[in-house]
Amino acid sequence: EPYIPKFVEVNYTEGSNDKKWRDGSFPWTKELEANNKRVFGNHSFRLNQREVINATMSGHDVFVLMPTGGGKSLTYQLPAVVCPGLTLVISPLVSLIQDQIMHLFQANIPAAYLSAHMEWSEQQEILRALSSEYCKYKLLYVTPEKVAKSDFLLRQLESLNTRQLLTRIVIDEAHCVSQWGHDFRPDYQALGILKKKFPDTPVLALTATATASVKEDVVQALGLVNCIVFRQSFNRPNLWYSVIPKTKKCIEDIDKFIKENHYDESGIIYCLSRMDCEKVAEKLQECGHKAAFYHGSMDPAQRAFVQKQWSKDEVNIICATVAFGMGINKPDVRFVIHHSLPKSIEGYHQECGRAGRDGQRASCVLYYSYSDYIRVKHMISQGIIEQSSLTPGQNRMNAANSGRILETNTENLLRMVSYCENDVDCRRLLQLIHFGEKFDYTTCNKTCDNCLKIKSFIEKDVTEIAKQLVELVKLAGQQCSSAHILEVYRGSLSQFVKKHGHQTLSLHGAGKHLPKGEASRVLRHLVTEDLLVEEVKKSDVYGSVSSILKVNEFKACELFSGRKTIMLRFPSSVKASKQWNSEVISTKGSLTSEKLIPPQIGTGQPQSNGDVELS
Ligand code: ADP
Ligand code: MG
Ligand code: ZN
Repeated sequence: EPYIPKFVEVNYTEGSNDKKWRDGSFPWTKELEANNKRVFGNHSFRLNQREVINATMSGHDVFVLMPTGGGKSLTYQLPAVVCPGLTLVISPLVSLIQDQIMHLFQANIPAAYLSAHMEWSEQQEILRALSSEYCKYKLLYVTPEKVAKSDFLLRQLESLNTRQLLTRIVIDEAHCVSQWGHDFRPDYQALGILKKKFPDTPVLALTATATASVKEDVVQALGLVNCIVFRQSFNRPNLWYSVIPKTKKCIEDIDKFIKENHYDESGIIYCLSRMDCEKVAEKLQECGHKAAFYHGSMDPAQRAFVQKQWSKDEVNIICATVAFGMGINKPDVRFVIHHSLPKSIEGYHQECGRAGRDGQRASCVLYYSYSDYIRVKHMISQGIIEQSSLTPGQNRMNAANSGRILETNTENLLRMVSYCENDVDCRRLLQLIHFGEKFDYTTCNKTCDNCLKIKSFIEKDVTEIAKQLVELVKLAGQQCSSAHILEVYRGSLSQFVKKHGHQTLSLHGAGKHLPKGEASRVLRHLVTEDLLVEEVKKSDVYGSVSSILKVNEFKACELFSGRKTIMLRFPSSVKASKQWNSEVISTKGSLTSEKLIPPQIGTGQPQSNGDVELS
């Protein structure tokens, strides 16, 4: 049965700033401290861990947004040890689950998992243990399709619940619930049934990636009640970000970059296709690197072998599709290179997040070309792009839904393109805006290519452009995504524009003389300034989502009455600008063109004045 959005008002409480969860002395505080040391060997709690544990143990539904590596597992494993009864954990991948079970086993915590791939007899044995009077397990891990498809499991859970032994339900990687996120899994949407069946059991939803709209989606689909949200900054100060134009010499550039900055250190190179992985690995081996590849067509044993070699530093570089990474916990990854364009900013952020877990400096380099955009777009539309899911086919959708998912994916991709083509704004700012986080770009301290490159700014009045964009949003009936508005503003005659008849709008093409990227910067600025509001639209019984721009009339008034002007920063001097190998996007008339220094394409090398960009 599909999840039908209910459009209920959801109550959230921001837990992160509530002292109650931090300072309160709870009946279990002493036991927590003791078990954290004794069972898990931790000397202290990390940011928000204690708070989350106190909130969930107090019986609340809790939503946790914590970066990868932040320590989310402890927030349910420690309560599971301290509380009587069983904690049910939903986790998307069997490989993740096995990894967790192994760690729990080492800590002497009784845990089990159920998956569709197990022998039926083995499954039954576990289910029998659950129904025995004394349930010997503290944690039971299941994949989401188990919940969706196994009545037997649900009955066991009901039985546990009536015996008051179902203590807590944990949804790990909760962003998979949302089609709005980058990692949607249809089976996650069926998880709403858990709250319906067990309304008194607290739910703990955990994720490392969630925009405001994803969060809303998750809370609604899971049916969380009076949910307490804990979140922390997604900024990773020790990661250095840069985007480099991708040329035919890309692999040579990568070789050079690694030799000069990270020789013999651990790293991941994300590639688009399985073939790319193998090709890049082979070329790097020829260059003398210890490289291997990893992708979804390898059998599980091969994959496990490669991952182990890498964990033990027998191999330095893994050339992988996004199938590699979820749950990977190597602390000393010194670089994450994107050989091709990632599918979304969220995905990109998460992939980069696998670098520098030890807090030491690490590099995140993305090689971008417009032709890769075309390639990724094609692969998305053909449904042939590798997902981070390891089971092919797990993400098959029904036809009615796939059109809208395609639109969402395309929009996510377009945002990634605009991130790459932006050679002005701080990379951290651009990423964090996406997570709904305010960020003061001066605290970047020149640890991204744009901040490093740009010496000084001039402010330019873009009020007229802003007015036109707001006007256009209204003209188009406040029903369009930002990508669509930009298309119309630039004068596109794409099928999509024509389908809506938007080529006839009076402002169609009004922005076509503007330098590349300028309109999109203004539009994004309007969203962060709250003049435009990005709203999640749930359109049908499948609960599919898209985001549309609405006008905040109150604030827009100030703009049109002349009380508000919109200023935007532009670089007044540029050390080196980038030239994209793009036939489609013209760089003519770019504001910075008269100051163009011939770009040192693809080297990522120290620039002329000796500043080191990425060492
Ligand atoms: P996440 O799920 O948020 O990505 P994990 O729960 O896998 O992160 O934890 C990442 C690593 O941090 C693990 O190796 C874990 O043992 C370690 N860790 C978690 N909490 C603590 C703590 N309080 N003190 C020390 N290490 C911790
Ligand atoms: Mg985790
Ligand atoms: Zn910056």
